[in-house]
Amino acid sequence: MTQLKIALQKSGRLSDKSIELIRESGISLTNGNRKLLSLSANFPLEVMYLRDDDIPRYVSDGIADIGIVGENVVEEEQAPVETREKLGFARCRMSLAVPKTEAYDGPDDFTGKRIATSYPTILRNYFAEKGIDADIHHISGSVEIAPGIGLSHGIFDIVSSGSTLISNGLREVEKVMDSQAVLIAPPSLEQEKEKILADLLFRIRAVKKARDNKYILLNAPNDRLEEISSLIPGMKSPTIMPLADKGWSSVHSVLNENDFWQVIDALKEKGAQGILVVPIEKMIV
Ligand code: ATP
Ligand code: ZN
Repeated sequence: MTQLKIALQKSGRLSDKSIELIRESGISLTNGNRKLLSLSANFPLEVMYLRDDDIPRYVSDGIADIGIVGENVVEEEQAPVETREKLGFARCRMSLAVPKTEAYDGPDDFTGKRIATSYPTILRNYFAEKGIDADIHHISGSVEIAPGIGLSHGIFDIVSSGSTLISNGLREVEKVMDSQAVLIAPPSLEQEKEKILADLLFRIRAVKKARDNKYILLNAPNDRLEEISSLIPGMKSPTIMPLADKGWSSVHSVLNENDFWQVIDALKEKGAQGILVVPIEKMIV
């Protein structure tokens, strides 16, 4: 029977969330203790655990069929793979930073300067596009300490909250790209594998949608029902049920996480009471 081989990061920031996404998609993984391989008992999927930097190449070489990796690594490795789905976790950005005491007027300030990074390809392409001639110094880790020890003028690295930069006396001056975890595949897969991938993506999208939405229940006075319902249209329209208490109804719907606080405030203003918000496990629209 055909199996789809997926490459996941063996240990690092992507590992737990990648495995969680597979599990929440209803795919059980036996011997999931991150040996080299694990198999699913209920879905034709085989997991290979690898260093994240190797994943794009393994996928383009066909050793793995698909993989989960950061967009930054896809960009850095320049392997011929396609992003099939953005996964919404491991969000970060790739930025240039300089010592906070240095003046900064724009990217031209990097001309002739040495920049330390673990992502030389992305940085080289960025400088080439801007026509800037800088000295890119490739180091494999602890990039943030390079200026402090006199190794470089600035750095180009992953930033999320920015606290690592601050604690090293650095200031973010240019964002070069945003990144998040993505599911990658080669430009074409054999038909059987493409079918399994379609099934996997269907499940992943249901999990993602569920994560982005909440189930909401509230009590509404009947004379405000229309206004309240229009604030929470849900997937088709809200469910409305009469309460035993005359003049009141229970309204059930689905609400996007991004609109959450704004909508809750508006609901309260319209007289909604007893608002309950519940997580959704899967959502298929
Ligand atoms: P190594 O390859 O040596 O194990 P790495 O830096 O590539 O180290 P991780 O630190 O596990 O590995 O990061 C994996 C990916 O997670 C990065 O490529 C990036 O896409 C994302 N990432 C890294 N740091 C953060 C962060 N602070 N917040 C969110 N996502 C991050
Ligand atoms: Zn890595």
